[in-house]
Amino acid sequence: MSELNHEDENDYEDICTICHRTESMAGKMYKLPNNFTVCEDCMHKTMDSLKDIDIEAVLNSPMYQNMPFMAGMPMDMMFDMPGGTTTNREKQNVAQDENANNGAPEVKAPDSQENSDIEDAPQQKENPEDEEKKQNPHRTMPRFSFINLADMQGGFGGPKVKKKKKGEHKPLIKLEDIPAPHKIKALLDEYVVGQEYAKKVMSVAVYNHYKRVATDTMDEIEIEKSNMLMIGPTGCGKTYLVKTLAKLLNVPLAITDATTLTEAGYIGDDIESVISRLLAAADNDVDKAEQGIIFIDEIDKIAKKKNTNSRDVSGESVQQGMLKLLEGADIEVPIGASSKNAMVPTTIVNTRNILFICGGAFPGLEDIIKERLSKQSSIGFSADLKDKFDDDKDLLKKVTVEDIRKFGMIPEFLGRLPMLFTMDSLSKEMLVDILKEPKNAILKQYQKLLRLDEVQLQFDEEALEAIADKAMETDTGARALRAVIEKFMLDIMFEIPKDDNIGTVTITKDYVEGTGGPKIELRTE
Ligand code: ADP
Repeated sequence: MSELNHEDENDYEDICTICHRTESMAGKMYKLPNNFTVCEDCMHKTMDSLKDIDIEAVLNSPMYQNMPFMAGMPMDMMFDMPGGTTTNREKQNVAQDENANNGAPEVKAPDSQENSDIEDAPQQKENPEDEEKKQNPHRTMPRFSFINLADMQGGFGGPKVKKKKKGEHKPLIKLEDIPAPHKIKALLDEYVVGQEYAKKVMSVAVYNHYKRVATDTMDEIEIEKSNMLMIGPTGCGKTYLVKTLAKLLNVPLAITDATTLTEAGYIGDDIESVISRLLAAADNDVDKAEQGIIFIDEIDKIAKKKNTNSRDVSGESVQQGMLKLLEGADIEVPIGASSKNAMVPTTIVNTRNILFICGGAFPGLEDIIKERLSKQSSIGFSADLKDKFDDDKDLLKKVTVEDIRKFGMIPEFLGRLPMLFTMDSLSKEMLVDILKEPKNAILKQYQKLLRLDEVQLQFDEEALEAIADKAMETDTGARALRAVIEKFMLDIMFEIPKDDNIGTVTITKDYVEGTGGPKIELRTE
């Protein structure tokens, strides 16, 4: 993040360097040098424990005396030395050269007996290096220190969270500014090809969600949260749709992968880390984060594991752990880290107004649907053949909550994702459209690049179909398009700038398939 100006800084909460609680949790903070902030509790505790230390005994202890470079050094000098702690003489040099050590505490060499002893110590014998040390203490000063507190995570100018204004609800989108569903869909149409049903459902759900946030009425008619579960094959645009939506609405968005999540205490990311990512996306502004969108991809990977005897730490437990998040609760989240521990500051985020969108490919779901449908129709006279549904392209659209439960999602989890919808797998025609239609279509991007060299780039319709065919072979949806194009565009991008006479390049089907070259036309003038 860029440097905060003074005014912005006042908007952010301080975090206690010792206990890592925020100002809103721990109360008044004491500001010490070097961005060291301590809450009242920790300050009292520290003072209390210092009372019991016998400083005289420490100074006279053999351990302290046996360290020649420490002897005679006041206790407070052992810590917090930006230039490293060495001998007293070197400190003297530092003190002389105040400008060089910007902001460092000024250190005065004690005129004690120990000081002269040290000057006579063998390692301090006068030599040419020593002379240089005097002139430029920083270059030659050995850089070591006992405890470099500045390395500690948190505190010391580490992450800060924006102050929450008590009792004030400031919606990110005002009621009158929320675009109507048909307008949201029209905006999505500019970027996302096909997926008409998904776009419609999302537009309505998002519209209702932000109406709920803007009015913030919690009277007897409480509008329920419209969390979503979208099912669709990989590369069909699930992530892209959510990203586009968040960009159009200008709300913070966090995208996470359910595969990395595990129950707290196990290797992997804690469930709360999902919220801390959103907080980071909202520039650590809790108010903003509380109205953002969280997209959890690969949600099918946290399905209940079948036939397992061990504890299911990344499956059912994660679903259980996510229940309160989806519903709306005060969650203590780590700031700038994926799990809570003693070194990471935390803050409280309420998830009541966060919109959760879960997405997954759910491989094998079609078989479950098929089984259910053929069971239904095998009763009575209308019994059908089992393979009747094998060629049904719209099979996935017939999904019910019961099917997903069978897949391994627990009912409580599904109950908190009321909007269930599927996305179409991409056909060849859709892939061709994806190449050329969206506002930032791949072809438009290449054409723009070559236009800067004053060269026109054109694609034959057949060439586009050939690209789509190649992409279909990989089974990774639209994601494969870029890979296919990049392969043959590399030569074009390399060769064209060599020749100033080239005016137009046309990509042909033969060129895409590797059996011919592109059509090149020279400039006429
Ligand atoms: P997934 O469904 O696996 O999340 P993505 O959303 O990541 O797939 O899609 C990968 C890329 O494919 C996107 O970045 C986007 O450029 C493109 N894409 C996929 N589907 C569409 C679509 N319907 N319209 C436009 N571009 C799309």
